[in-house]
Amino acid sequence: MARPALVPPAHPLERLPEEWASHLATLGQPAYRGQQVFRWIHARGVFDPRQFTDLPAALRETLAQEFDGLPLTLAVRKPSDDGTRKLVVRLHDGRDVETVLIPQLVDAVLGDEDDADAEPGLVPGDVVTQCISSQVGCAMACSFCASGVAGLKRHLSAAEIVAQVLLGRTQLTGRERIRNVVLMGMGEPLHNYDAVARALVLLTHPDGLALSTRRVTLSTSGLVPQIDRLGRDFDGQVALAISLHATNDATRSAIMPINRKHDLADLLAALRRYPLPKRRRITIEYTLLEGINDADADADALVRLLRGIPSKVNLIPMNPVEGSPLHAPARARVSSFQERIVRGGISCFVRKQRGDDIDAACGQLALKGEAARKGRLALPVIPGRTA
Ligand code: SAH
Repeated sequence: MARPALVPPAHPLERLPEEWASHLATLGQPAYRGQQVFRWIHARGVFDPRQFTDLPAALRETLAQEFDGLPLTLAVRKPSDDGTRKLVVRLHDGRDVETVLIPQLVDAVLGDEDDADAEPGLVPGDVVTQCISSQVGCAMACSFCASGVAGLKRHLSAAEIVAQVLLGRTQLTGRERIRNVVLMGMGEPLHNYDAVARALVLLTHPDGLALSTRRVTLSTSGLVPQIDRLGRDFDGQVALAISLHATNDATRSAIMPINRKHDLADLLAALRRYPLPKRRRITIEYTLLEGINDADADADALVRLLRGIPSKVNLIPMNPVEGSPLHAPARARVSSFQERIVRGGISCFVRKQRGDDIDAACGQLALKGEAARKGRLALPVIPGRTA
């Protein structure tokens, strides 16, 4: 895979094998130890250097002085009736972010037929998709999303992003394994580009977790320059999901402030030039909001906008957000919206609500109590439209 220019690692967990090697060289160690240490942490999931048993005892001690485990802890584990598990993880400064483990019943998250791929010995329930966060809070302030209500508190480091997956792996049961990672938790990943880029390299490193790049999906509200950068840095290999949610600028700007900076035409142009590998498609996320973006005319407009862009549409009936006047349309409306898109020749899935009994569904990952306290969730005002 193409490897972007990365900022230097700030935490031992962020070191790539060659960066471990140069660090260990300063301790008089041979180069091959770099890969050994990296494998212990990222492939085997052992975070205590005292247990790196193929290393000399003195070296293990030295490393244990520098590094003693993951930079976050599991604060709360909330299992849902449907097998989804929400993990609240506590960071070193006491802040919390959330990550969700979702056993992959076919197309639960991505609506992707690839997920039905036969893998010998694996049943769908063994395959887990993990949804991870990239920031504490979010600066994008989309009007239907709980994560943005309190604004951005801080970026996560690459170590904190990768550690969510390393911690997630310790929570698997039976024959489960994490096969897909989606950056669809709290935060706008492309607003934290450097940390996210390093995390992507770490998560897909063949000596580590070795996730396939096409099974790592980055979801963005549409930061156009960073979409271009991601495409260049990773040769289009990282799967892209775009939060579109509207088919005209008036509506999109009303519900997604980022649209005032990068409008629909800019965003769609970026998708057209994304260096998408053959036979791959961009996921278009479309959160259905009753009376805002759910008309037949919107479905038809969506089909027109996506013409010529290899894409599939993932409809997400809005999950309830405390204090928000917005809500999902009735089921029949969702179905006819979906049908019109399919009739327009574009594959279209309705994302199942998973984990909504534990507030783990899309858009519900929030800083506790902030949504209600801030009262910032008002009905969006769409110019030229009357209620
Ligand atoms: N910042 C990234 C990741 C956000 S979460 C982005 O904007 O893409 C992943 C998806 O859930 C996004 O498409 C987001 O718009 C959507 N979402 C947010 N709140 C939601 C809600 N309450 N109901 C349904 N989908 C929601």
